[in-house]
Amino acid sequence: MKKIIFTILITSIIFCKINVVASTTDLADIAKTIGDNRIKVISIASGKQDHHHVEVLPSYMLKVKKADIYLKVGLELDLWANQIIDGSRNRKLTIVNCSENIKPLEVPTTKIDASMGDIHRMGNPHYWLDPENGKIIAENITKAFISVDPAGREFYENNFNEFIININDSLTEWLQDFNHLHGEKLIYYHNSWPYFNERFGLEAVQFIEPKPGIMPSPIHLDRLIRTIESDDIKLIGMETYFSDKAPKFLAVKTDIQIVHLAQSVGALPNTETYLKMIRYNLQTISNFFKEYND
Ligand SMILES: [Zn+2]
Repeated sequence: MKKIIFTILITSIIFCKINVVASTTDLADIAKTIGDNRIKVISIASGKQDHHHVEVLPSYMLKVKKADIYLKVGLELDLWANQIIDGSRNRKLTIVNCSENIKPLEVPTTKIDASMGDIHRMGNPHYWLDPENGKIIAENITKAFISVDPAGREFYENNFNEFIININDSLTEWLQDFNHLHGEKLIYYHNSWPYFNERFGLEAVQFIEPKPGIMPSPIHLDRLIRTIESDDIKLIGMETYFSDKAPKFLAVKTDIQIVHLAQSVGALPNTETYLKMIRYNLQTISNFFKEYND
C-alpha cells in the first residue's frame, strides 16, 4: 500500500510540473534557474543556431501542444515562434514575451525599407547579452510561473532573488576584472552585441554583414579592409553559425585575428549556463587584448 501511495505521489509530483517551452537556450536556462524542479523546460532552437532563421517542424508544435508556458524572445527575433504556437492549437498556453520592459537599442528612426535588412526592424533583438537585461527576463519569467502555479510563489521568488544576487555579484566582478576592455574596438560578424558592448565598454566599428542578415559583397569587404587599416582594428568577433570564409579573407589581407563568441547558452564549450556564457565572451575578448597588448 505504501508503495502504491508513494508511486502515486511521485507520479503526481512529476505530472504537476509546469511544462515550459522556450524559443532559445538563454530563456530556457534562466527559466530552469527560477523554476528548478517545479518545471520542465525545453528550448526549440539550440544555442549554436541562428535564431533569426529557425525551421518550423511539426514536432515543435506537438511539444507546445503539451506545454503550459511558451517563452518568446520578442522584438521580432523569433517570429517563427508564432507559427509554432498557432500550429500547436493549445488554447491554454500562457505566452510570455521576455522582451517586456527591456529598453531596446537601435530602434529605427527612419522609415524601414528592404535595403536595411529585414531582421532588426523593432530595434536590436539581442538584448539577453547584457546581464542587466537577464534580470528583466528573469522577472518576466518569475511572474509567469507565479500566475500559472500560484502555490509555488515563495519558491519562485526565492530563486529569483538568488539569481539577482548572482548576477549582481558577477557583474561587480566582471566590471572590475574586464575593465581593461573599455574603449577596445572590434568588428563583429552580425550586429548581436550592442547590449553587451554598452555594458562592458567595447565598441563595434563595423560588421562583416553590411546590414543584419545581408551577405558581405566584395565592395563591403574592401570597405572593411580600409577600416581595419585606418582604425587599426585587431579583432573580429564572430557568432558560431556563420561561415568563416569572409573573416578569413580579411585575416589574410590584414592580419586581423578571429575569435568565436557564444551568441547564446550552449553555443560553445563552457557556455552551458547564462552566466557562464557571458563570462566566456568577456574572457575570450579579454585574453586576446591582453596577449596582444603585452
Ligand atoms: Zn540579429
